[in-house]
Amino acid sequence: MKKGLLIIYSGPSGVGKGTVREEFINDKDLNLIYSISLTTRAPRVGEVRDKDYFFVNQEEFDEAVANNKLLEHASFVGNSYGTPRDYVEKMRNQGYNVILEIEVEGAKQIMKNTDDYLSIFLVPPSLHELERRIRSRQTESEEVIQKRMEKARNELEVVADYHYAVVNTTPKKAAQRIRKIILDNIKD
Ligand code: 5GP
Repeated sequence: MKKGLLIIYSGPSGVGKGTVREEFINDKDLNLIYSISLTTRAPRVGEVRDKDYFFVNQEEFDEAVANNKLLEHASFVGNSYGTPRDYVEKMRNQGYNVILEIEVEGAKQIMKNTDDYLSIFLVPPSLHELERRIRSRQTESEEVIQKRMEKARNELEVVADYHYAVVNTTPKKAAQRIRKIILDNIKD
């Protein structure tokens, strides 16, 4: 059986990665599995444990790092995030295309270690629109919003390191474009 693709899917906080992902993740033709990350961040209202994230404390996170259990990891606005290594390998070996929804530092670690991946960056239509979206989520304090915006400006500088950039004009359009990109890359 052909090994599944490793798909790096990044984009600044608030750009709508999750909303766009919902539009394509269950498409049978794409054969996708979403990799659930570890995070030390507190759950947001509506987030489901072991589905959106494995919510862990810092000690548990550090232990996963020390035991080489993470494929990549990074800190983001005061919290740690990382991708469980074994699950990704297991799913790819079963032929699934595994999607990692991760920020740019973690993505860089993977890009440095292997050529065997497909990378997609979701871009906001503008920074103004990004700020509006982060604010409309109403989950973060003003300080965190400012930090996330500053981070977004930095993150956007690395778009060119990715194979594809997709502008999130609407979730449906962005998802269609991503669907096409994935199909083009799995057909051979
Ligand atoms: P949030 O707190 O908004 O859920 O996530 C903050 C950022 O961390 C987002 O850009 C998200 O994609 C990213 N992220 C989520 N999981 C991981 C992970 O396992 N590794 C890395 N490097 N970033 C992650």
